[in-house]
Parts: sequence; structure tokens; C-alpha cells
Amino acid sequence: MTTLTDIRSAYPALRQTINGHPLTYLDSAATALKPTPVIEAVTAYLRENGASVHRSVHTLAERATEAYEAARADVARFIGAAAPETVVFTRGATESLNLVAYGYARRHLAPGDEILLTPAEHHSNLVPWQQVALATGARLVYVELEPDGQLSLEAVRAALSERTRLVAVTQASNVLGTINPVAEIARLAHAVGAVVVVDGAQSVPHLPVDVTALDCDFLAFSGHKLGAPTGIGILYGKPERLEETEPLLFGGEMIQLVERERSTWADPPAKFEGGTPNVAGAIGLGAAVRFLEGIGMATVAAHDRELAEEAYRRLAAIDGVRVYGPPAPRTGLVAFNIEGVHPHDVAQVFDAEGIAIRAGHHCAQPLMRWLGVAATARASFGPYNGPDDLDALVRGILATKRYFSRGSR
Ligand code: PMP
Repeated sequence: MTTLTDIRSAYPALRQTINGHPLTYLDSAATALKPTPVIEAVTAYLRENGASVHRSVHTLAERATEAYEAARADVARFIGAAAPETVVFTRGATESLNLVAYGYARRHLAPGDEILLTPAEHHSNLVPWQQVALATGARLVYVELEPDGQLSLEAVRAALSERTRLVAVTQASNVLGTINPVAEIARLAHAVGAVVVVDGAQSVPHLPVDVTALDCDFLAFSGHKLGAPTGIGILYGKPERLEETEPLLFGGEMIQLVERERSTWADPPAKFEGGTPNVAGAIGLGAAVRFLEGIGMATVAAHDRELAEEAYRRLAAIDGVRVYGPPAPRTGLVAFNIEGVHPHDVAQVFDAEGIAIRAGHHCAQPLMRWLGVAATARASFGPYNGPDDLDALVRGILATKRYFSRGSR
């Protein structure tokens, strides 16, 4: 069994002090720390290879291609995809969602069609659909949340109709910590002939995700939240959906035949990977998913949930602290506010204590409006967090309260 100490020892960034305190990292929902196997895989590629993929026949290029395609196979296995060809490398969740919006939705939606969303979507799973609606005449329809922030299947069922062409929903909210019943949503959506796009940015790093079981049409996520470098991400698509999707980037590597006036495209996934790809990032992502598989995603999920639910309980019990979303079940984060203190000031006091948290609207302004706040503070967890980090979180809140009660006297 892998202990917390073993896991923590794999993250060199934890071995530092910030403002005189050992680093407490509680910002994994923004981006995760990078474990040694990822750092080593990327470094080894840069040091010993550095070649591009799919181009030359020399040994280094062949090795780079093998490593790049092995990473694709690792990701496919990790998300339960039937074939590596359904896994497209992108820059991240934002690019993946834009690829679906531009390449699929703009081509398939028409005036009168509806796109179903929730008010809890990250801007990356919201603004692209606004653009699709503007370009096609389709209409955005929002399923309202329950008072505690959960998404009820009844509400989804009521909002769906034969006009619904696309449902875009996050599997895990980056603010509320809720986990949406995506498999059931997909079943309901498919029954009316709609395509289902899942934002997996906060679910894939924290839960076992199986696209075959979910039966979603598309799944988008970012490598950096899994421990890979920034600038690499994934769009999974069912083979028939990827066939129906046009590329976003035209140029080298994505073509089959180029004539003077017209061209034909390579098969997916190459069709969507125009230009020299982020080989180092893909190799890092392969290493990141293998590292998480080593811990076991069921273990990761149970660990994150336990920390988040305990954090919720402890924070909700502190006078003047408001915690958002349901107490349970939740994914590995907790968003909160301290009465009378701006969340940016909270984050500042935390930083002085060596504790990294996030403050702001979390790229979810419609959700902030729904919650009736301008911003929140947010603590989020990764496999390297433990009970000491919860103590640090409470210590940070008490320090903030002390600091501001002194200031306001
Ligand atoms: N969706 C959700 C739910 C997220 O939390 C994030 C990252 N904050 C994104 C999408 C976008 O991810 P990226 O910025 O890596 O493209």
C-alpha cells in the first residue's frame, strides 16, 4: 500500500518553505504539483531525444513517436476509451472544448436548436457555446441547480426536448465540489438525440472516469491538473463524432493529400493535431496517468472526498465562515468566504503562512452570481494532501480572522 508519506516524497515542490513555513499546497484544482516520474520522463525526452514525431525515419524520431503514441495509449486506458485513436492531444480543456464548439457544434447546429448548460459551468465550457449560439442561431438553455448546488436529474429531464442538440456539462464543479450524474444525463440526452460534451477538467484528476461507461460523446480535460506540464490536454471523442468534427488547425501533419486548390484530412486523431505537437507534454501526461494508476484512482477519489468532506465540516463549524455547495458527496475542494474579508485578502494572509489557496471568481461568473457573491476563497486537494493540511487550512482561517479583527478595531 502506498502511504501518504510515500506519495508526498514523490513531489519535490513540497520540500520547500514559503515565507518561513513549510509549503502547504491547497490549489490543486487550479493546477496540480508535478511528481518526480513526470519530471524525469519530460527531462529524459528533452535530454536524450527532443525530436519531433511522425516525420523522420531516424532513430530519435522513431523513439519520440513511440513515446508520444504510448502516452496516447496510456491516456486511453486511463479513461476507459476503446481505442487510442479516440484520444486527441490538445493544449488543454479549453482548447478541447473549443475544438468541439468550432469543429462539431458550429457545423451541426441551426436556428431553433438548443444547447443545454448549467449555471455552474467554467467559462471554458460556457463562452464557446455562447459563440456557437451567436454563429448558428441556436439557443442556450440553463438547467437550474438545486438550492445546495446539486444538479437534479429531474431538472435535466424537464429541460431536455427534441430541440436539444447538445448538452455541455461539467462532471465535477470547480467551485461547488459537486459531482454530476453524467452517465444518467447522457442517457437522457441521447434519448432525445442530443450529443453530450463532458467537461472533465475537475473530474479526471480526482475520480475514476470511464468514457465507455459514461457513454459521453466528448470528454475534455487538462494534463496540468493531473500532474503533467501545462500546455497539454485531451479531447476524447466517440469515433463517429470525431469523423463528424472538422479540424480547428489546418496545416502540417493533419492532411492526407494536399493539392493546389484543396486538401483532404488524415484520419482522427492526426486530423486534429496540425503542426508539431507538444511531445514533451504528451510524454509527461503519460507519466502522470501511470503515476496516478499506481496509487489507484479509487484510492485517490476516496482520499480527496474524505479530505473535502472533513474540510467542509471543520470550516462550516467556524463562526463567520460560509462554505459553498453541499456537505457531501464532494470532490476534492471546498470554496468558502470569511465574513467581512475579501477572498483576495484571505489568500494573502494564507500565503504569509505558507499556504497556497485560490481566490477569485474561479472562471465561473454566472455561478458567483447564482451564489450571490463576487468571489470566494478555495482550498483544493491532491493525492499529496493529508490531515496536516486540513489543520493548516483551519490555522489560516483563524489567522485571517485574527488579522482582520485587529485591523478593524
Ligand atoms: N473546466 C473546469 C471545470 C476547470 O476547472 C478548468 C480549469 N480551471 C477548465 C475547464 C479549463 O482548463 P484549462 O484552463 O486547463 O484549459
